[in-house]
Amino acid sequence: MTIVGARPQFIKAAPVSRALAAGGMREQIVHTGQHFDVGMSDVFFDELGIPAPAHHLGVSGGGHGAMTGAMLQALEPLMEREAPDWVLVYGDTNSTLAGALAASKLHIPVAHVEAGLRSFNRRMPEEQNRIVTDHLSDLLLTPTDGATQRLREEGIPDARIVQVGDVMFDAALYYADRAAERSAVLAQHGLQAGAYILATVHRADNTDDPERLRAIVDGLEAVAAEHPVILPLHPRTRAALGRHGFALARVRAIDPVGYLDMVALERHAALIATDSGGVQKEAYFHGVPCVTLRDETEWTELVDLGWNRLAPPTRADIASEIRHALGTTGRGGRPYGDGNAAGRIVAALAPRQAYQ
Ligand code: UDP
Repeated sequence: MTIVGARPQFIKAAPVSRALAAGGMREQIVHTGQHFDVGMSDVFFDELGIPAPAHHLGVSGGGHGAMTGAMLQALEPLMEREAPDWVLVYGDTNSTLAGALAASKLHIPVAHVEAGLRSFNRRMPEEQNRIVTDHLSDLLLTPTDGATQRLREEGIPDARIVQVGDVMFDAALYYADRAAERSAVLAQHGLQAGAYILATVHRADNTDDPERLRAIVDGLEAVAAEHPVILPLHPRTRAALGRHGFALARVRAIDPVGYLDMVALERHAALIATDSGGVQKEAYFHGVPCVTLRDETEWTELVDLGWNRLAPPTRADIASEIRHALGTTGRGGRPYGDGNAAGRIVAALAPRQAYQ
């Protein structure tokens, strides 16, 4: 039973769903409803060929407690009824936490994809979700050496950890050609390959704090005087801009795009400025320099390799960080595996192993 609910989880689940089907395993997808509209959810099921959810919990909005609680309440009877061999959870959202907690209380083995990530910033809801999920899980599927190492340091037995690589690398490789064939997003927005900056902003730390959001808006606006800046706007950010009364003048804000359009925008960007975890890695997969609009990152190997630099909003001058990073490249390396993380995940799930 796969629990998903938020945009990055649909993308991470796509290669695993395909590998599960190829391995002859039966998968039941549960969509919690955390992201629910066409642009944040349906488009990914359509484009990525993910099986339709068998269950849709319809839980969205509200505070963290209300949302996670409603998911728990809905998941428990469902898991009892369906009695899956494994519950598979992804990443670090409230859907991840609810899936892991509901399953572990029912003594159903939990496998966590993208285990071992840490920002060491306990204020982030994602960090809280990761830590609890990792420590509840029976099988911790890690993307990198660093993630594996951190779990060991936290006392998780080696027998529970399998380093599989990053499923987002699988997805980037698998969908690159399809994006090249099907996406017309550059033409739609009058963008020249290699001559624009792609930005995304959605972390609560940035959107909820007016000073940080102001610093990001000012930085991107300054750069937009020199290069086109395109910003697919997450609904949370759109709402925050309205709430704080910040207008974008030169930056071109568009609705969130589907994954194939996003891959096309990423591949042809001169630079990516983002606070997204997934987009930082995708910049690297496509050989594009990245500026991360945060105080820290979970994906430190990209900073070490020189592909990514941190620009903490309010502390760094975002526009000059972007100007400095333009045209740079980093060192080589293969920190995210070989593009077959999904195959390794399926191998780790069978035969059934429970450590409870
Ligand atoms: N993404 C997308 N359309 C967009 C913005 C992002 O398809 O308009 C994809 C992006 O390519 C990546 C994933 O969504 O695969 C990242 O999700 P998000 O930034 O929401 O979450 P995070 O990775 O920070 O958890």
